[in-house]
Amino acid sequence: MKKPSDRIDQVRRLCHQLCRSSCIEDKRQERHKELLRNRAHWSVLKKAEQFRQIDRGEKVPFDISLPLPARDGEEGSNQGVELFWERFRCQQCGLCCFTPGAGLLLEKEDFDRIAAKIGKRKLERLSRFDRALDGWILKQPCPFYDHAKRGCKIYEIRPLTCRKYPLHPPLAQLPYNLAVDAFCPAARLFAKETLEWWIICENNWARLLARMEESGKAPPKKDG
Ligand code: SF4
Ligand code: SF4
Repeated sequence: MKKPSDRIDQVRRLCHQLCRSSCIEDKRQERHKELLRNRAHWSVLKKAEQFRQIDRGEKVPFDISLPLPARDGEEGSNQGVELFWERFRCQQCGLCCFTPGAGLLLEKEDFDRIAAKIGKRKLERLSRFDRALDGWILKQPCPFYDHAKRGCKIYEIRPLTCRKYPLHPPLAQLPYNLAVDAFCPAARLFAKETLEWWIICENNWARLLARMEESGKAPPKKDG
């Protein structure tokens, strides 16, 4: 007999596999508004509390799960990431580039790409070698941040981590959803703007769960 938590996890995984396209289209078309007209939802009822929680990210480092499916490596499964970048608007505050911290690990391809442009010696001076990680760490605050222009001096060849920011790997609690760094103000704004999208996810989960319980056997087939 499956535990309820296993069942919920199974539903979320199935939703990620079966409902991805329809869920992205529903969110793009703002279909949550119609759903919210028909029933009460925590994203509206507890909006102020949720916003306060999201804003804690200014001071306390944590990640926020988004109502968007995470990439799972299958062909055509990048739709959640694509919708994120379509809607995400960086505020160019520079916080992610110019905050003193542990430093930014350069992947080998990052190191080679940047070294080819600015010179290996110069890049080594701007970094430190970490034996445990067996890689170069770019010193922080980032030496490539241009304060006057409020941008990256090596934007075209910036490290992979910078290209993906503020997206982070999904959280353990919601492994099929995209997660963002709550430290980024634009990511916090996006999380607030899309909070009501959760009703679309939850509707899909409820529908899948009902169908699984009705059939009591094979997982439901793809909707379309
Ligand atoms: S912290 Fe976020 S909003 Fe600010 S520059 Fe970085 S990505 Fe843009
Ligand atoms: S390399 Fe560019 S994008 Fe990355 S942290 Fe430095 S200034 Fe920001």
